[in-house]
Amino acid sequence: MALRLLMLGPPGAGKGTQAVQIARDHGVPKISTGDMLRDAVTSGSELGRQVKETVARGQLVSDDLIVELVRRRLADDDARGGFVLDGFPRTVAQAKALDGLLDGCPLTVVEIRVPDEELVRRVRGRRICESCGTTVSAFDGEPSEAQACKVCGGRLVQRSDDSETVVRDRLTVYWRETQPMIGYYESRETFRRVDGARSPKDVYAAIAEAVASVSGGR
Ligand code: AMP
Repeated sequence: MALRLLMLGPPGAGKGTQAVQIARDHGVPKISTGDMLRDAVTSGSELGRQVKETVARGQLVSDDLIVELVRRRLADDDARGGFVLDGFPRTVAQAKALDGLLDGCPLTVVEIRVPDEELVRRVRGRRICESCGTTVSAFDGEPSEAQACKVCGGRLVQRSDDSETVVRDRLTVYWRETQPMIGYYESRETFRRVDGARSPKDVYAAIAEAVASVSGGR
């Protein structure tokens, strides 16, 4: 059965890293709204100019704008057979809009939980490849700008919104605006919560098990 998976959790929980692997295993695209917005900012498009400031401050861009972005992306051929969504939805309004877009297609929802201080530590150590967007986390050893990306050899840099001050603002936004959205899914039979304060391999195993248990119950 097609996998339509939402990865929920705060910045630094490991959503992006895990989403890449789960999407690869199921042969579906990983769709990250954060990546889409960063690409738009880098390309200097109209959208990029509109969202640049908001993303840099770690605040949420408007629901209308992000829902339209996701609506268009989900209409692409590669997303028709399933997808892993990373970073969307982030508000109750976005979650409701997504239900409308999916028109009853079954969703699997996984929330990754990690304590705040661990998140700050991880995000501070996170680097991203300037060329291909691969994320190198503190788990892989101490990432340094001197290292090259293992995938493409590109330069590793820190995301401007990964500075400690902006990370703390992003966590505040998360607890205020995104955590209440979890309540929108929590009571569904297809919702699972996993402990993300473990090694990426263990977290991956827990997510794979959660996804399998949801599919098995359908
Ligand atoms: P992320 O890479 O998911 O941490 O996203 C980086 C930034 O992009 C966030 O801090 C927001 O400014 C913006 N963003 C990404 N996804 C959304 C969303 N679903 N709703 C609003 N803003 C978003």
